[in-house]
Amino acid sequence: MPQTIEIKDLIKIYSGGFEALKGINLTIREGEFFGLLGPNGAGKSTTIGIMCSLVKKTSGSVSIFGKDIDTEPDLAKQFLGIVPQEFNFNIFEPVHQIILNQAGYYGVTRKAAMDRAEYLLNRLEIWDRRNTPGGRLSGGLKRRLMIARALVHSPKVLILDEPTAGVDISLRRSMWIFLQELNDQGLTIILTTHYLEEAESLCKNLAIIDKGVIIENAPTVRLLEKLSSEVFILYCHDMTDVSDLAYLRVVEEGVVEAELNKGETITRLIETLTARGIIVDRIKNKANRLEELFVKLVAA
Ligand code: ADP
Repeated sequence: MPQTIEIKDLIKIYSGGFEALKGINLTIREGEFFGLLGPNGAGKSTTIGIMCSLVKKTSGSVSIFGKDIDTEPDLAKQFLGIVPQEFNFNIFEPVHQIILNQAGYYGVTRKAAMDRAEYLLNRLEIWDRRNTPGGRLSGGLKRRLMIARALVHSPKVLILDEPTAGVDISLRRSMWIFLQELNDQGLTIILTTHYLEEAESLCKNLAIIDKGVIIENAPTVRLLEKLSSEVFILYCHDMTDVSDLAYLRVVEEGVVEAELNKGETITRLIETLTARGIIVDRIKNKANRLEELFVKLVAA
């Protein structure tokens, strides 16, 4: 039986009386790549904060591989590597030192810490910046430093809160590859995001949280099946009459909405319009897919 992280009936009421978590339940298995997905303000950071003992829960329980965060907090914490949303290292300290200090905090021996720091900084491609004060790194490199720091004590679980906030596309891709590699090696990874696209690329299982309530918890492929159609907006010129095409709706002169069901392609759509002499200048998704999924889930 793989070990699990168990979150039971978790409630968080902030001091002003706001109920950020309304009794959530989650089970995350060892080795999973798990996504906690939801819009801003849904309660993702609060959940993560409680798991890491950075936020005090109001009631409920959390156990990390059998260690309860109330009764065995040090053992529970030892299992976790945390990459918070905000950069929280000493900006004047060199990168290498930041990693070594964290290792010391977790009781890693000096020799093991040196080896591990070298491996991680190389793997994350910031070894050549090891003597640079953390504060002088770019946003993307700061995020990598935070990941290296979180991994220095070889945790069993890596928790990332919005890991790609402020990270450019090429860095984001290489970060995804690295995270996938870590997961393939057996590391359990939990990430929060408000991008369905990011969760879709990385996570095998997803929980969707909205206003402090888990509204879905299922394998990613099952959730995506609920998105059976997508709406695109097309900006066109040389418009002709399209009123006979039921899947099109003319919004205004030159702007058309097209609803494509699963299996229908953009190529076919463009070919149909081109055959009528219409030129499609640009095309974009009407809503982000997380929003579409929410609309479907809430309506279901
Ligand atoms: P998410 O990470 O999904 O964006 P959060 O967990 O940060 O959401 O926040 C959930 C809700 O709790 C939000 O409405 C937020 O405004 C509120 N909240 C977060 N932290 C505090 C706090 N320290 N005091 C009062 N309300 C808070």
